[in-house]
Parts: sequence; C-alpha cells; structure tokens
Amino acid sequence: MKNYDIAVIGKGASSYIINQAAEIDLRVAVIDRPPIGGTCMNFGCVPSKTLLYPADRINLIKTSTSLGIEVENIKTDFVKLMKQVRYNRNRSRKSHRRQIEKYPNIDLYEGAGRFLDCKTILADNQKIQAEKIFIANGARPFIPNIPGLDKIGYLTNESILELEEKPGQVMIIGGGYIALEYACFLSAYGIDVTIIEKNPGLMEQMEPELSSLLEQEVRKYATLHLNAQVINFDQKKESVSARIELKGNKVQLKADKVLVATGRISNADTLSLENTEISTARNGYIEVDEFLKTTQANTWAFGDVIGKYMFKHVANQEARTAWDNAMTKEKHKMKYHAVPMAVYCHPEIASAGMTEKQSAESHDILIGRSEYSGVFKGNLMKDAQGFVKAVVDKKSRKLLGFHIIGPHASILIQEAVNVIANQVTVDFILGSMHTFPSLSEIILKPLLNLKPDRTKTMRR
Ligand SMILES: Cc1cc2nc3c(=O)[nH]c(=O)nc-3n(C[C@H](O)[C@H](O)[C@H](O)COP(=O)(O)OP(=O)(O)OC[C@H]3O[C@@H](n4cnc5c(N)ncnc54)[C@H](O)[C@@H]3O)c2cc1C
Repeated sequence: MKNYDIAVIGKGASSYIINQAAEIDLRVAVIDRPPIGGTCMNFGCVPSKTLLYPADRINLIKTSTSLGIEVENIKTDFVKLMKQVRYNRNRSRKSHRRQIEKYPNIDLYEGAGRFLDCKTILADNQKIQAEKIFIANGARPFIPNIPGLDKIGYLTNESILELEEKPGQVMIIGGGYIALEYACFLSAYGIDVTIIEKNPGLMEQMEPELSSLLEQEVRKYATLHLNAQVINFDQKKESVSARIELKGNKVQLKADKVLVATGRISNADTLSLENTEISTARNGYIEVDEFLKTTQANTWAFGDVIGKYMFKHVANQEARTAWDNAMTKEKHKMKYHAVPMAVYCHPEIASAGMTEKQSAESHDILIGRSEYSGVFKGNLMKDAQGFVKAVVDKKSRKLLGFHIIGPHASILIQEAVNVIANQVTVDFILGSMHTFPSLSEIILKPLLNLKPDRTKTMRR
C-alpha cells in the first residue's frame, strides 16, 4: 500500500491544490477517471465557448440590418469547427498530464477512485492511503426516465462534441443554460432547433424580467415549447420521433438528433461513501460545512460534487478555500453571496446576488432599471435589445443583486460582483467616473433612478 500526504479525487478545479501541494514537496496522489482534466476543459465551459464565439459573430452579422449592414450567404463550416474543438481538447489533455509529470512527488492514477475505508482509497485498482483527502469528482449529465430515450442514441453535452456531420434538426430537452447555449450555437450554424422545456419559463432561477425578454429573443432562432413534456421517443429509420404533451394536447415532433440537457447530478455515488463517515445531503451531493470540510476527519470536498453553485469559477474559489482550511490554522468560510453567473447565448445574460423577490423577503428594497438604449453607446447599438436591473437595500444602500441581459453582459457584471462581494454601498459605483461613451455607463444608470417600486415591470 502506498502512502501519501494528500490524495485528490478528480482533476478539474483541484489543479490549484495539486500545484500547491507539489510545490511544497508533499507526496500527492491524483486520481482522475479519464479523460483527464475534468468537465470544464473536456465537455463544458471551454468547448462550448469555442463553439459560441463564432456563433456570436454570425448572430452579430445577422442582426446588423438595423445598422444598414446586410450580408448575404454567410458560409459556416460546422465539421471544421467541431474538429477544431476536439483538437484543442486533446492538446489540453496532454498539457494536464505534463503538468503532473513534471513533479516527481505526484503519482497520477488514471482511473476511478473509491473508498475502502475512511483513509484507504482504491485508486485505479491500487490501494493507497493519504493523511488528507480532497474530493472534487464533479457531476455528470442527468438523464431523465423517458420511455424510448435509451433507444435513440441521444446526445449529451459530452457526446455532442463527437459529431462529425452536421445534423439538419436538433431537439433539445431542457431550458437551462446548457440548452440555451447549444440552441444558440446550433441555430447560428443553420441547424433547425426545437427546445422542449417542462417549466413555464427559461432559466427558472433567473430574475423573471430577464427570462421573458430572453424567451422573446430565443423564439427568433429556435422553436420553443414551454410547459411541454416528452411522453416518449421512437427511433424511425432516418430520424427520431417524439410524442409531446403540449398545453393538454399531444403532438408529434421529429428531429435528426436529440440533445438531453436536463441538469446535472453529483458523482458522489461513484465513491462508495458507505465505507466512510462522509454524508451526502440533498440529491446525493456531498455534505460540507462552511469551511468545505466533510463529515469525516481530514477530508474536504468542493466543486460540482457538493452542488452549491455549479460553475468553474465557484469550484476554483472553493479549491483555494479548502486548501487554506486544510493547510493553515486560520479558517476561512466559503462565501456565496456574490456568485456571478453568465449564459453566453443570444442575448447574453449575467447575474450576481439576489433577485428582486429573494431580496424583498429580508430587506426593504429599492429597484433601479435601465434599458441599454438609456446610455449613448447602447443607443447606438440599434441591433441590440437589453436592459439592466439593480436591487439595493434601502437603508444601507448596499447592492443586493444585479441582473443584465444584452451585449457583453458577462463582462459588464464584474463591477457589480465586486461591489456585492465587498458589501460596499452603491456610492462606490456612483462615485466612480465611467468612460463616456462606453457600455460601462449601463451599470451606473439604474443606480441613478432607484425607486421603491417593486411591482412595475420594465417598459420595452
Ligand atoms: C456544457 C457545459 C458548459 C459549462 N459552461 C460553464 C461556463 O461557461 N462557466 C462556468 O463557470 N462553468 C461552466 N460549466 C460548469 C463547469 O464546467 C463545472 O462547474 C466545473 O467544471 C466543475 O469542476 P469540478 O472540479 O467540480 O468537477 P470536474 O471538472 O467535473 O472534475 C471532476 C473529475 O473527476 C473525475 N471523476 C468522477 N468520478 C470519479 C471517481 N470516482 N474517481 C476518480 N475520478 C472521478 C471526472 O472524470 C472528472 O475528470 C459548464 C458545464 C457544462 C456541462
């Protein structure tokens, strides 16, 4: 049996810990089920944004008619782009492996890991023990139990990247961010997209005003069925047929491919946790305290496997916090009050902090709104729909939440994130000059018209 100072299960966001441990000459075991490198690099953020960057360019061109720009015959190469994504991914995998090979004190077990007891892990069929254990083995696509689904060779965010031919029609099951980003990419590349979502709106947890503008815009490039449920799938000769329950009616739809994007589930169930003192909480996610410690001594967990906020930037921050808490006397709480999220679809969406409804439950609030056209640069962008909404605590003037839909939302949100994270007042933003005429003024604008009005929805 080999003994280590540190064992890390899952090599995604845990890269930070592996580097830190390696640099101080600890003996480290890294256990990662192939392909090496985790979701973000293999199947998530990186490939999806590689696909969305050109898609965004295509959408820009297509929506530029209001600026007097018309381009006929936009040519796109789906097959070439998919090849490029796979090429990049293979290079990144090599670089993940190289990162480990350069340290003699790290052993890589490229295989599944599971616990035999609290300290012993079966790592790629070899028994190892470690003084401190970090669990970061992520999540996987949730596959709903729909009759016939297992017979149709459905796609997930993983298998879609293996496509070597461009499908004509894709049906997407789900209306969350993975569904929206793929709908945006596929439709930009000329594929006919249908979205089937069981909820009444897209991105259910989002500020409802953003969701309704998003819905209106998505309908411009995809067929959208809300309050819709798939009853069953049937594989036909050349295509897939789906029976859908839609507003009390049963309708038959067909597509070449079906993409399942119905959420993610924790990989905690692959770890034989019954042999340990590690507890799981809701929906099988590993239970941790505010310092990211599990219910077992000397064991920490973070990232998608604990299911707090399933984003790469959250997993990275959690990795740093878990490392500090495991290695130093000072204990740091993981803070989640200013988690940013962005969806890189068309139009782009970004949010941080609480929605109006969540804030109103515990605060007396002020709301500020501005359309993009409310600032000079936004007004120039005649092709772009969008608005921002700020939620502020009336008494302290602290920013509680900020929500953006429109161009560059994912960049613009950062100023609000900094203010929410540091719990300073909105005067921090109001007291700073914003470059004229830039879109950054859009962050200032809603704070200049704060109102105690909670009911009025925005005029568009
Ligand atoms: C399509 C898509 C797009 C996304 N886009 C974004 C985005 O734009 N921005 C963003 O912030 N987030 C995005 N995310 C989310 C982000 O990818 C995840 O939150 C992040 O990668 C989680 O990191 P992690 O380290 O917790 O887990 P992972 O990166 O999943 O790493 C877990 C590793 O553990 C391995 N493993 C699993 N079980 C075992 C086992 N028993 N033994 C050993 N190894 C095991 C896995 O194979 C994997 O390599 C996206 C996700 C998807 C699916």
